[in-house]
Amino acid sequence: MMSMIRSSLKNLFSKPYTVRYPYESTNIPENSRGHVEWDMEACIFCRLCEKNCPGKAITTDKEGKSQTIVIPRCIQCRVCVDVCPVHCIYMRSGYPTPGQQLEVHTYAVGMERFHHGTKVLERKRRTKT
Ligand code: SF4
Ligand code: SF4
Repeated sequence: MMSMIRSSLKNLFSKPYTVRYPYESTNIPENSRGHVEWDMEACIFCRLCEKNCPGKAITTDKEGKSQTIVIPRCIQCRVCVDVCPVHCIYMRSGYPTPGQQLEVHTYAVGMERFHHGTKVLERKRRTKT
């Protein structure tokens, strides 16, 4: 009982261990699973990443030679990285910025390595029936 009271008092007067992300930044460990990036020059458009993505975040466009990812749908599971036969998907550290809109990144052949275009989609409102 005494140790519990001591611990509660200590925590009451010490600084919080958490940070108010995204308003405060923190040290992101190297090799942490932050976000997905493509090296499109190596992609063979087999669609394994798209088919295996549990968040249905990826769309592979073979004709357009591009990959599109809906950022808020990605759960950083790393499955796409592991299934890619040519190792052209990378998991980089650095968290995506949280937001209420659907941020979409497109990586295409011909773009500078690991660079992408960004589009922001409005979320569809659910209507009660
Ligand atoms: S699994 Fe790799 S090679 Fe296949 S479409 Fe996805 S990124 Fe391209
Ligand atoms: S990390 Fe997981 S959820 Fe995110 S795009 Fe890859 S397979 Fe999909």
